[in-house]
Amino acid sequence: MSGDMNPVGDVAENLAVILESIARSERDYGRKPGSVILVAVSKTKSAEEITPALIAGQRVFGENRVQESQGKWPGLKARFPGVELHLIGPLQTNKVKDALALFDVIETLDRESLAAALAKEISAGARAPRLYVQVNTGAEPQKAGILPEEADAFITRCRITHGLAIEGLMCIPPADEPPSAHFALLGKIARRNGIAVLSMGMSADFDAAIQLGATHVRIGSAIFGARPPHRANG
Ligand SMILES: *Cc1c(COP(=O)(O)O)cnc(C)c1O
Repeated sequence: MSGDMNPVGDVAENLAVILESIARSERDYGRKPGSVILVAVSKTKSAEEITPALIAGQRVFGENRVQESQGKWPGLKARFPGVELHLIGPLQTNKVKDALALFDVIETLDRESLAAALAKEISAGARAPRLYVQVNTGAEPQKAGILPEEADAFITRCRITHGLAIEGLMCIPPADEPPSAHFALLGKIARRNGIAVLSMGMSADFDAAIQLGATHVRIGSAIFGARPPHRANG
């Protein structure tokens, strides 16, 4: 790691700025103070780079790879009680058991086979995670998530067929479109399915997401600095 890229001393300062921005958006849009939760996205960052955020009091974090998280989070969780870990990247069915051992929230439930695998592990005694369904609001072929027109039926199958409690919805809008229409669509799907939690908004667009009802914003680079370009989307 080159020492001049992103001095770790900045993380606490960046975090404070982001928390203040979230509070300002809550005020601007008449949202209840403290109603928007910051998921600090620490993917690709080392335990050393994450530690200043934990020291500053941040406890909710997002990671996109099970294996990478297994390397750094058990130790950090032991040092900093009360951590809540969100999986925000795709989950392979053969990693479900490992994911359930480490993650408190899985934000990327996006297909029937994964719902079945989760239900199986939970009925076999695994710790039940909180679950969000990922919706591919832009219907992008390269992106994970259930299509918007299939979301209602999928949520119902998760609940009825697989007995899973669905707490929230998550989306990642297309990079080249204004995000607001996507945030509004996610809110609409949530309301008609009786879902209260909306995970939407990242470093560049969390203000718009809060305006449109986000309860969780997932912010990485604005806190921990830029990531290597080839890992930027995964
Ligand atoms: C990386 C990532 C983020 C954070 O993106 P930033 O632009 O760094 O804030 C949020 N959500 C998901 C699903 C991600 O993969």
